[in-house]
Amino acid sequence: MDNEQLWQAVLGELELLISKANFTTWFKNTFIASLDGENIIVAAPNAFTKAWLEKKYREQILQALKNITNEGVKKINFIVETKKPGLTKQLVDAVAPRSSSASGANEGAEMNKFGLNKKYVFDNFIVGKGNELAHAAARAVTEKLGETYNPLFIYGGVGLGKTHLIQAIGNEILKKNPQAKILYINSERFTNDYVQAIKTGQTESFKKHYRTVDVLLIDDIHFMSGKEQTQEEFFHTFNALHQNNKQIVLSSDRPPKAIPDIEQRLISRFEWGMIADIAAPDLETRIAILQAKCQEKNCLLEKEVIEHLAKVIQNNVRELEGALNRIIAYHQLNKSLPTLDSTKQVLQAMTISSPRGNITPKKIIEATSVYFDITIEELTGACRRKEMVLPRQIVMYLMREEIKSSYPAIGQELGGRDHTTAIHACNKIGLALEKDDKLKNDLLLIKQKLYQAS
Ligand code: ADP
Ligand code: MG
Repeated sequence: MDNEQLWQAVLGELELLISKANFTTWFKNTFIASLDGENIIVAAPNAFTKAWLEKKYREQILQALKNITNEGVKKINFIVETKKPGLTKQLVDAVAPRSSSASGANEGAEMNKFGLNKKYVFDNFIVGKGNELAHAAARAVTEKLGETYNPLFIYGGVGLGKTHLIQAIGNEILKKNPQAKILYINSERFTNDYVQAIKTGQTESFKKHYRTVDVLLIDDIHFMSGKEQTQEEFFHTFNALHQNNKQIVLSSDRPPKAIPDIEQRLISRFEWGMIADIAAPDLETRIAILQAKCQEKNCLLEKEVIEHLAKVIQNNVRELEGALNRIIAYHQLNKSLPTLDSTKQVLQAMTISSPRGNITPKKIIEATSVYFDITIEELTGACRRKEMVLPRQIVMYLMREEIKSSYPAIGQELGGRDHTTAIHACNKIGLALEKDDKLKNDLLLIKQKLYQAS
């Protein structure tokens, strides 16, 4: 195995542990400068990245190296060095398309002047039960701009294809009409731009910039939560565009009403047009997605390997892609073909190195209280109002499912309740999950918060 391949495998592993935005930001143009027995030197493109890798990711990188080299590598150092990044760059790009970064820090050559990444098109978006409504609505929007659904509001958990879909809208419109003025932007970037415009006294040109487009695509609108001034400005942007029948498309991790700290008048506007959700893909869709990604990457996997991957990894498409990349990297490294057994081994190593071990009852309570915007006291207290009871039952269910707490322990954590209450709650949520997509989405988002924070 050469250094390039080893680094690829390390990145394949890290990609699963850290957020996409961070992954692209900090690991772009990194490589192994030298490997000498137990000592490895990792090169970063600049001093800032080097310092960040040292401080934040040293342990994770070392752990990944140890996993892959069977404890062969023991010590890691970092230097600043640049060279043509070769394969590593390819992997980082393949894993983390730039324009979907929440931080907006990774804008680069692949984006066109409208902020669109040309990789995200309808042609490579696999449609299944969980996303067919959102997909159909997105297609319909491109047929008749500003008329069919305005705005189109797409919501769903992380990694389920929201960014892909709303960028596909932009790319499709551009294909039909290269003159169309399209603007794709993350709502964080909108906020930052606005703050900047105020600081530099350029609010007029800001207004003009946003209010003269034909199509405004705003990703992750929930980041506007709590940002009053930005919401005010966006309210006027929205009105100006809508009045002129300009198309607006928004994405969010939850439905309009469930976004905390958003002005009522904005919520009601978000609900004017069409609201479409994206739920986690079912088994067949996951298989179809894996097949398509294999084809894209030009690698052939046995049917049983694909099916196994699709069965084990259920929550989101990004994880699915991450696991696939990891399997490919591992087998390239070992110059072997993936079999069902070797795939199982790789997946097992992945779950062991995932941060599941750090979850505590306290963290579950915290994540749930933040998600539902209620206090920990309310959550663990005696109040029997519906707004408290459901989150409380979700906490119990998560303690049982995620960290295997005993029923008496669960009761104890939740203000000294009886163990039968815990049993009842876990059964109830378990049953409800089978048919309640909203609940499924809630749980998915809470879990994501939980594992991101840990
Ligand atoms: P979100 O914005 O909802 O967090 P993304 O749009 O960034 O999710 O999707 C994560 C990754 O999964 C992207 O690489 C995207 O191309 C891929 N993806 C998601 N859904 C699909 C799908 N239905 N078909 C093909 N690829 C998908
Ligand atoms: Mg996104």
